[in-house]
Amino acid sequence: MPENSTATELPVVIIGAGPVGLAAAAHLSTRGMKPLVFEAGATPAAAVSEWGHIGLFSPWKYNIDYAARALLEATDWQEPDSDYLPTGTELVNEYLAPLAATPQLRDAIHTQTRVIAVSRVGMDRTRTPDRDGTAFLVRTQSADGVIEDHHARAVIDASGTWSTPNPLGQAGLPAIGETAAREAGLVTSPLPDVLGRDRDEFACRHVLVVGAGHSAANTLLALGELNEAEPTTRISWAIRGADPASVYGGGDQDGLPARGALGTRLRHLVETGRIDVHTSVTITDLDTTDGLTVSGTTPDGPVSLDVDRVVPTTGFRPNLDFLREIRLELDPVVEAPTKLGPLIDPEYHSCGTVPPHGANLLAHPEKDFYIAGMKSYGRAPTFLMFTGYEQIRSIVAALAGDQAAADRVELVLPETGVCSADIGSSCDAPVADTAEAESCCGAPAEPVSIGIPTGLEHGRSAYQETR
Ligand SMILES: Cc1cc2nc3c(=O)[nH]c(=O)nc-3n(C[C@H](O)[C@H](O)[C@H](O)COP(=O)(O)OP(=O)(O)OC[C@H]3O[C@@H](n4cnc5c(N)ncnc54)[C@H](O)[C@@H]3O)c2cc1C
Repeated sequence: MPENSTATELPVVIIGAGPVGLAAAAHLSTRGMKPLVFEAGATPAAAVSEWGHIGLFSPWKYNIDYAARALLEATDWQEPDSDYLPTGTELVNEYLAPLAATPQLRDAIHTQTRVIAVSRVGMDRTRTPDRDGTAFLVRTQSADGVIEDHHARAVIDASGTWSTPNPLGQAGLPAIGETAAREAGLVTSPLPDVLGRDRDEFACRHVLVVGAGHSAANTLLALGELNEAEPTTRISWAIRGADPASVYGGGDQDGLPARGALGTRLRHLVETGRIDVHTSVTITDLDTTDGLTVSGTTPDGPVSLDVDRVVPTTGFRPNLDFLREIRLELDPVVEAPTKLGPLIDPEYHSCGTVPPHGANLLAHPEKDFYIAGMKSYGRAPTFLMFTGYEQIRSIVAALAGDQAAADRVELVLPETGVCSADIGSSCDAPVADTAEAESCCGAPAEPVSIGIPTGLEHGRSAYQETR
């Protein structure tokens, strides 16, 4: 069999060993196909580990893929309580790390190996003859700089969006000087562990949080707690909207008590002057000449803040750079696969109204290439792991030639109403006016801008509703 054909002996490359990439490896292994997983981080689920201190809003029963569970059940793994809401760290320690260590997966996963390009062997994206039957070429770079090419019969890109946050500046562009400020380490990760791992970076400093969603609320509350222990810690909060009230939820009247309580705490911090709120701000400049000065415009004139750190809770976008030679078909608005885009556009949909979907919806003109998981939602914020597992089940069935299984929708999401999934996503991005609460992340009536763990289960499936 020629090396450049899509011979079934070749592996299926999976980019990223997050929950969805590992589920893909489990499904491939179950169907007798060879997974080859490349993970840029030092450990499997490196991205989840970075936000490990955050509590999930979905209980264990919605976080475990069924093919993965089957592999784990053959080991001495103890399945966690299905109704418990784990933290990111628990998700890694009690599920993803044991999964990555199963005999079927452990040799297939290569950590500290970043995929830097995907193409077809011997052909750039302009070449059509024999394209579908030609193997993929996946180029990787290891942490020590070694570059290697690998051949694959198919590629599943499950690389998430965590490493490509939205910029702080206006119009989707970095503010002037933002790149230098990020390089200098003055702009932190989107969800720093303020009270734990990253405490020293924030204690007794002036911190500016930018954004009006769940990540902002979480970080502000943690900073409030730090301020109690270290009173010289100063907290500023910049939002694009004219009023932070939408982030507070309904307080005592909130349909989701946990969210209401957190909103109430945040309001209290603002009203007692512990947090300085700057509304209607458009950030234009980050000047690192002498410390860090963040400048912006407001309807009342320019604003300028001397700070030590900026926490950018402005959402995420997919990294499409390494897919330049692949024939993609993406929705022009959210950068998700074309047929999925309109179903998840955050201007119109909450995650509770996204129907389960699989290979057909996720297909690109490039045969046997799929984007799955968080990255498949492009800039939309509403992705759920459970939906990703259904994507994977269907994609792997399609790759195995089991079209009937690929076409079936097997996921049934429970009818429990609210999905509070504004998880540091583009909903966090400042919006131009006070329509924020209505336009962000879903149905106008449901203020989902704090997606703090609610104890409630996933949102409804529109698929269910229409049956
Ligand atoms: C704070 C937070 C809370 C969340 N809570 C929930 C929840 O409660 N319930 C729920 O269903 N969903 C939740 N989500 C959404 C989503 O399910 C998770 O983000 C989930 O981790 C997505 O899985 P993934 O495998 O698609 O991507 P990731 O978990 O982001 O994994 C992608 C992996 O790819 C690696 N990678 C990136 N680029 C490359 C490259 N070029 N080459 C090789 N490797 C690469 C990364 O290091 C990473 O480990 C949450 C998200 C966040 C951020």
